[in-house]
Amino acid sequence: VITISNVKKLFNTKSGTLTAVDDVNLQINEGEIFGVIGYSGAGKSTLIRMLNGLESPTSGMVDVNGKVISNSKGSDLRRARQKISMIFQHFNLLWSRTVRENISFPLEIAGVGKRERDKRVDELIELVGLDGRGDAYPSQLSGGQKQRVGIARALANEPEVLLCDEATSALDPQTTDAILELLVDINKRMGLTIVLITHEMHVIRKICHRVAVMEEGRVVELGDVLDVFKQPKESITKRFVQQVT
Ligand code: ATP
Ligand code: MG
Repeated sequence: VITISNVKKLFNTKSGTLTAVDDVNLQINEGEIFGVIGYSGAGKSTLIRMLNGLESPTSGMVDVNGKVISNSKGSDLRRARQKISMIFQHFNLLWSRTVRENISFPLEIAGVGKRERDKRVDELIELVGLDGRGDAYPSQLSGGQKQRVGIARALANEPEVLLCDEATSALDPQTTDAILELLVDINKRMGLTIVLITHEMHVIRKICHRVAVMEEGRVVELGDVLDVFKQPKESITKRFVQQVT
């Protein structure tokens, strides 16, 4: 479903050119929960942002469901993006809008009528377990509940891919587990492909099928999560595995 071919991303900074993503090749399968792990600055966010066109590669190609994201612009890119949603560490909710209004927002933008929107929002609120909180404002919710709003909003347009950038990093361990379980549930129910970035190996172990380890912009190890835990090859991977065992 997602093909990343020879992707490089350079940034021009005051101190020269910085290589954030360095010749990455990955294939992510439909319905898979794919983890990307690495330390701060490894290039994880830059890589995931190229999957929905928030960044464009300096060279190489990104294809999502047969659509070359890395070449798309304007309305073409906007249409492709409706099928690729994202959730964030700090939730990125609209603080002056209620839970319902937050979830409804992408549907409004997509031009969905009021009656259909209301119905869809009701379903999404139930799906993420926010029953009864529809009229609350984000500031009145716990971190876990805020991320549930983020997830509901991300699912509003029935995406094929959900990108999660450190989506549980601001949450305590118990809340993290509950959100991860919700992601698994959504993955199973809808066959949604999930790409999840984290620096915590227990998150990978809990829900991912495969994992890519990134270091200095490169994918240094790739494999099934069980295999990587059993037999990590690179020293950086061993360090991550030791976090959990
Ligand atoms: P973290 O775990 O801290 O979120 P990350 O793995 O997500 O790290 P990135 O945010 O992708 O890392 O950053 C990779 C490198 O690219 C870093 O050195 C970062 O400073 C640099 N970088 C990212 N975005 C930009 C930008 N817009 N301009 C210049 N440099 C950038
Ligand atoms: Mg990041």
